[in-house]
Amino acid sequence: MTKFEALGLKKSLLNAISDLGFESPSEVQEKAIPILLESETDLVALAQTGTGKTAAFGFPLIQKIDNESRTTQGLILSPTRELCLQITNELTLYSKYEKGVNVVAIYGGASITDQARQIKRGAQIVVATPGRMKDMIGRGLVDISKIDYCILDEADEMLNMGFMEDIKDILSNTPKEKSTWLFSATMPREVSVIAKKFMHNPQEITVGTKNSGATTVQHEYYIVGGRDRYPALKRLADTNPDIFSVIFCRTKRDTQKVAEKLIEDGYNAGALHGDLSQNQRDLVMNSFRKKQIQMLVATDVAARGIDVDDITHVINYQLPDEIETYTHRSGRTGRAGKSGISMVIVTRSELRKIKAIENKIQQAFISKKIPTGMEICEIQLYHLANKIKDTKVNEDVDNYLPAINDVLHGIDREELIKKIVSVEFTRFFNYYNKTKDLNTSDSGDRAERGGSRDGDSRIPADGNVRYFINVGEKDGYDWMSLKDFIRDTVNLGKDDIFKVDVKDSFSFFNTDAAATEAILKTFTEFKVDGRFVNVEVSKNPGGGGGGSGSRGRRDRSRSGGGRDSRDSDRNKGRRRERSTTKGSSPSSSGKRRTKRKSDFF
Ligand code: ADP
Ligand code: MG
Repeated sequence: MTKFEALGLKKSLLNAISDLGFESPSEVQEKAIPILLESETDLVALAQTGTGKTAAFGFPLIQKIDNESRTTQGLILSPTRELCLQITNELTLYSKYEKGVNVVAIYGGASITDQARQIKRGAQIVVATPGRMKDMIGRGLVDISKIDYCILDEADEMLNMGFMEDIKDILSNTPKEKSTWLFSATMPREVSVIAKKFMHNPQEITVGTKNSGATTVQHEYYIVGGRDRYPALKRLADTNPDIFSVIFCRTKRDTQKVAEKLIEDGYNAGALHGDLSQNQRDLVMNSFRKKQIQMLVATDVAARGIDVDDITHVINYQLPDEIETYTHRSGRTGRAGKSGISMVIVTRSELRKIKAIENKIQQAFISKKIPTGMEICEIQLYHLANKIKDTKVNEDVDNYLPAINDVLHGIDREELIKKIVSVEFTRFFNYYNKTKDLNTSDSGDRAERGGSRDGDSRIPADGNVRYFINVGEKDGYDWMSLKDFIRDTVNLGKDDIFKVDVKDSFSFFNTDAAATEAILKTFTEFKVDGRFVNVEVSKNPGGGGGGSGSRGRRDRSRSGGGRDSRDSDRNKGRRRERSTTKGSSPSSSGKRRTKRKSDFF
């Protein structure tokens, strides 16, 4: 006898379970299923996110309903449309060997008449969000006056979202003699209020410790200056090339902003918040599920429904106001027995919140340092080496090998490896070379800005120098003609100017540091057709904020203004480099950020 069989489930359900690949019941299933099958009782079940609560109520419910009757017998209330759909899908899978069982989902943002039609065809089980349910009851489109079972799923989240009144309303339309099953990850006061008011002597089961986050999640915090949240986020992502994460912001506006910046900077990111249309949200969630999006930036409300396994990291871009909310956030990772990391980006003044969370989740945070630019470069380098090692050889390459061998003729193995690795590595190196240590927060920030006033410190002693020039496409240049123009004006060699990137009204280019003096000298007070053509060193270790008036203005106008202008400036350089790589050949899109687990993390 299998462990599931021992719980009292009937054969057809056991078959479905074996099709699902569930080998043994989870703890909450083991405890809840026999109780629910054997007696008509109210039940309060507390178990962390990802412990299999859906099946814990789903199997008993399906076993108990009468599938000969078309009356609605079971109502499941759940906080979000996403969850409604998930539960409906799951229950449909559970009941695949049952005849005539109809599970219908009811949620906002979709046609109410379509949903009413589905109900009318006969739905023994209705899975609904409270808002839409109330609406449909009001319009007489659904009858829940004869239900035997009412399930409040993710009750804490529903109440968090302000559905208390709706739930009370809906419950008042249900018969007195029914069983109510409440499933929740935590037991805040509002949940006990509901339990007291609407349930009769509920049996209680608790899995794990009450109110604690999943122990498979490691909690980390990183202290940065208030302005460094975004660059810190990028470093955390770059340190984890295979990241698959949800990033939480406090407001819809921040959510949108952070997502946009990440996309601009070449990451596979997306935004999820309430100002998006249902259609947009669906698209984002679909891409996230398929892992086309590696970084999903979300508000707490919008992320409620996310049940995606394999999330490697939850990043708290800002801490939530409510400690309870932190539990919900970190519960998005470490699901289904996998391990996960919940990272918090904090400022010094927010540190006491970490203490409060530690008390709440009964787990200690690990204090971590944001990796330095060079540490990230090293990580990326090894990641790249491993990627090359693990790359499956495409046999079609054979046709081109003779020609390629010709091109690479005379380069020995060591040199060739260096070159191959450099193709990708230089991108990160150029970006992170000479960037500051974000952990030094406020004081370091100030020191660095002061230092940048010294013009010469912007020019690295060796390596490449990146320049900004105030002419672009508008002035009739493309990359080739701009390159020629600079080369001829300064009198440089054919290959001395590279990485020319022409924008609408300005451009960027690189030279060796050796050419910097000549370039800056040539373009001092330099006019073309009566107009000043101005060149400045662009890639600088933290310039901007404290510079001279004209330079400060230029920086801001270039980077779209705002207090992060220093960072945006750097980001631009990087985005360009990324997009150059991407654009150079379709096949290089595979370089965008790989998705599989690396050996390093
Ligand atoms: P919860 O509602 O507690 O957050 P879910 O019911 O959404 O958790 O289940 C989380 C995941 O675990 C789902 O992908 C589900 O299919 C899977 N799962 C549930 N029960 C089992 C089981 N007994 N064995 C293996 N996987 C399971
Ligand atoms: Mg659930």
